[in-house]
Amino acid sequence: MKPDRSQKRLGKSDLMVGPISYGHWRLAEGTSAEAGDKTRAALDAGMTMIDTASIYGYPDFGAAEALFGEVLKAEPSLRDKIVLATKAGIYPPTPYDCTPDKIIETCEDCLRRLNTDVIDLFYIHRPDMLTPHADVSEGLMRLVEAGKVKEIAVSNYTPSMFAALQSKLDRPLIANQVEFSPLHQDPVWDGTLDQCQQYDATLIAWSPLGGGDLMTQDATEDSQAGKIAAALDAVAARNGVDRGAAALAFTMITNPEIVPIIGTQRVSRIAEANKALDVEMTRDEYYNIVVAWRGVGLP
Ligand code: NAP
Repeated sequence: MKPDRSQKRLGKSDLMVGPISYGHWRLAEGTSAEAGDKTRAALDAGMTMIDTASIYGYPDFGAAEALFGEVLKAEPSLRDKIVLATKAGIYPPTPYDCTPDKIIETCEDCLRRLNTDVIDLFYIHRPDMLTPHADVSEGLMRLVEAGKVKEIAVSNYTPSMFAALQSKLDRPLIANQVEFSPLHQDPVWDGTLDQCQQYDATLIAWSPLGGGDLMTQDATEDSQAGKIAAALDAVAARNGVDRGAAALAFTMITNPEIVPIIGTQRVSRIAEANKALDVEMTRDEYYNIVVAWRGVGLP
């Protein structure tokens, strides 16, 4: 088994993206010149979806978007080459507010910071327990109707939250962006991946390397993470790649419609991520990673 390297359609939309995406959670750690270098490296590697959020850069709220806005201002031709995704709904220390006016105001701020007229993919970043789904729907629909966003999606929604919000919308949620990696395999078991297939929505996998934890894990340690690292190292050694490529391949092999978002801030590692697309994994090797995560064998 190998990752499917073809372009992916996001949900039922017309948005097409490369098999791996590039995320901006950590972007504000660097300068705008560095942000430009990372963007060009991502595009050169075929990572056409750029994933940011209004909260990225916190405590400097909006800093990642503002930095990327500088890149887009300096090089406007980049805008048409990317699928630009951003998110709203998290406002520390509140922490969440998905009322229609707040979401709309945040989206308008996103547009201004990003120096763009439209967001290709706009997410509710996390569910807000205090806002009924009908109200979240109203905010999202007003943004679509105003032409400020092309497509809508959610992040960190449980399957029942996703279904409830979808039932209040006149257009499809095209994705659920959730944590998924060899270290966090819950989306396969809690109904999230099944629901994405049922609704033709895309499962977008954040932190596919466990936010870096997988890379620094001691594979000889007698722990869940140690055993996962060892199972990944076996695949990596056979393919002549590092553990990160094996982990990234695991997310894509799980289902050809899963799109992982990597978050390295090193230009060299952005290009190297594509090595994951050539990783070959046997069923035995795949299930060894699943069993290492479960802690018990499969029946
Ligand atoms: P990740 O790719 O799992 O982790 C990136 C981290 O791993 C970086 O700190 C990177 O350090 C480190 N790393 C990569 N290769 C390494 C190696 N060979 N050795 C040691 N460390 C290594 O992804 P992430 O940054 O956690 O998240 C990716 C994207 O997912 C974010 O940018 C964001 O767009 C999205 N996200 C979404 C949510 C959500 O709630 N929707 C939450 C979290 C993230 P270097 O920079 O030094 O390479």
